[in-house]
Order: sequence, then C-alpha cells, then structure tokens
Amino acid sequence: MFAETFDPAAFHSIFSLHDADRQFRERNGVSFVETKLKSLILQHGVEKIFGVALVHRHFDLEEGTILVEKDMVTAPWRSDNSFAKHGGKIIPTSWFCREGNVFPYEFGFVPYSKTDPPRLEEYASFVEAFFDTVNLYELGDSVGIRRLSGNESTGMLECTEGKVNIMFSSNEIPVEYLRSGTETMWFFDSQPPYRTYRCVCTNTGSSENPNHNHIDQP
Ligand SMILES: [Zn+2]
Repeated sequence: MFAETFDPAAFHSIFSLHDADRQFRERNGVSFVETKLKSLILQHGVEKIFGVALVHRHFDLEEGTILVEKDMVTAPWRSDNSFAKHGGKIIPTSWFCREGNVFPYEFGFVPYSKTDPPRLEEYASFVEAFFDTVNLYELGDSVGIRRLSGNESTGMLECTEGKVNIMFSSNEIPVEYLRSGTETMWFFDSQPPYRTYRCVCTNTGSSENPNHNHIDQP
C-alpha cells in the first residue's frame, strides 16, 4: 500500500493547480473536506498530525530531485533513496493515492537534533479509511494527506517563484492577496474557523493565467 520511495512518474501525473481545483469544485470538494474528511480525521484522533491537501504541482521536476520544504520554502533538492541530507533526514509531508498505492510527493527536512515525526505507515487504518472515502467521492485525483509541520498560521499564502514555493503568513501579505489564492490545505487541529493554506502562483510565465499553473506542456 505504501510506496517506499519517490516515484517521478506518479509525481508527473499530478494535476496542475488549475485542474486540481476544477475537479475539486465540480465535486463540491470544500464541503466534502469540511464534513466527511473532518469527521474522519477527528474520529481517528489524528487532527494534530495530519490534514487534507488539494493535490497539485506547479512545475515538472528534473530527474533525481524531489521537493523539500525547509523554513516555509519548498525547492527541488537532489536526493538519493537514502533520504539522508546535511546530517538530517528528508521525510514525506504530502501523499496521494493511485490505484491503491500511497505515494509521497512533497517532503520536509528534519535536522539531526529533532526527533522524527510519526510515519504515515503507523496510521494505516486511518490512511485506508481516508482514501476509501476520497475515492468513493471520486476525488482521488485531487485530494491527499498533508502532515502538519507545527509552523502553520491561520492563513498562509504559497507563491511560486521559478521552481521554488514560498509560504507567506497572513501578517506578511495584504488580505486581498490571500483571498486571491486557491485553498489547498485544511487542518482541523484547532477550533473553527479551521486553518487553511492558500496557494497562488505568481510566476508570470503564463501571462493569461498568472494564478494558475506553468507546467511545461509537451
Ligand atoms: Zn501550490
């Protein structure tokens, strides 16, 4: 059920933000997340560990690189299958499911001085129930699991510069910028209104659609 390593082909099958958001809206995804998935997360007692992600990617990755987050900045890092780097570890932070296999697609850096956070594999019954529910609602292509890092604030905006995603907290950006983003993550570890991340792509490579994807099309 759990893929051991990063799978580039699976990564490149992920929708652009635009397409993920379209499928998600067509299936009334926000209400699904805020009712069914919220209940499931609370029922399994994992609300302080995992949340929900709108599965999307902003760009293609070169072979041998994976997306790693450190201090709210996510960039392509060279990585082999050891997932060891700079004396610390690279661990998965986001997962999606394809045909019964759970793939990690974004990662985070854990320095040597910090304890490893829980592994998704330790929550197999939650993961199975989560993806069963998501597939039943035909949202398997756009809904996945996101690990809470503990650094999230109430509202966050992710902006893309080249192949780097930068997270801004709500006090760093005007509120209208935050509203312009697409909601991409939901966490239920606090009281309502729950924390959400929004995503916006500020890369002007595709000028007609600056808030959406700039994945190179063949
Ligand atoms: Zn994004």
